[in-house]
Amino acid sequence: MPKMNATAVARLAELVRAADRIFVLTGAGLSTESGISDFRGPNGLWTRNPAAARIFDIEAYRNDREVRVAAWRHRLDSEIRAAEPNTGHKILASWQHRAEVTIATQNIDGLHQRAGAQGVLELHGTFWQSRCLDCEYGCSTDVVFARVRDGEEDPPCPACGGILRTATVAFGQTLDPGTWRTAVQAAHTSDLAIAIGSSLAVQPAASLCDVALLNGARLVVLNAEATDYDPTASLVVNERIGPTLAAVDAALRA
Ligand code: NAD
Ligand code: ZN
Repeated sequence: MPKMNATAVARLAELVRAADRIFVLTGAGLSTESGISDFRGPNGLWTRNPAAARIFDIEAYRNDREVRVAAWRHRLDSEIRAAEPNTGHKILASWQHRAEVTIATQNIDGLHQRAGAQGVLELHGTFWQSRCLDCEYGCSTDVVFARVRDGEEDPPCPACGGILRTATVAFGQTLDPGTWRTAVQAAHTSDLAIAIGSSLAVQPAASLCDVALLNGARLVVLNAEATDYDPTASLVVNERIGPTLAAVDAALRA
């Protein structure tokens, strides 16, 4: 085993083995090992380029064509397009065969599903679908990419001429109510909640940890850096996600 906190691995394996209903909340840190930058980690997109945050501000996106042009260029170049699921995604999907495991993710990259996970709750939507901000039109984001490559810097909605955007939740937008309700319910009925690769700084997603805790679940935080939820957790593991989950999975199989 690589150098790792063996006690934490054994403890996490014990908690997973004992749990009947596990609620997993994942964040951008789970996908950094697939080559997708997170926002707030040491190598994060915003840590390197604070101006990039404007792309994720819905008012700026609506009002400023330059922001939309930059956003489409950014998406076309996005690391998400070439990424493959990693060990962590695959192990979490496999745990759905050993317990009732609900995965709620803040990620928009679709990698949980591509690793085989079922019923993934995409709290912040998906990069792979786009829709019009002004009418009901929606399409695969690949369709919009083809238009951008053909020279439309800010492709308008083909139905109404309105503004197209990926089906992702920007700051200033509310979460899909159905997805949110299902996530709250899953957190509420869980006996173990595991937050993985999230700074737990984005609300309301992080509050799902509170929902689980208030209902008596134990909380585990697996993240490279400290989070505000660490004091409430039964176990905090400040290690790399892939190797940690691989070690826990090996312990579960032993
Ligand atoms: P965040 O960027 O705020 O936090 C990520 C955390 O993961 C950091 O604390 C970092 O230290 C940790 N981390 C990074 N790599 C790690 C590793 N290999 N092992 C252990 N820890 C690691 O991410 P967030 O909490 O998900 O919030 C960011 C928002 O940005 C989300 O709302 C999400 O929608 C969006 N986002 C999504 C993606 C994606 O889909 N992959 C990527 C970037 C941002
Ligand atoms: Zn439209």
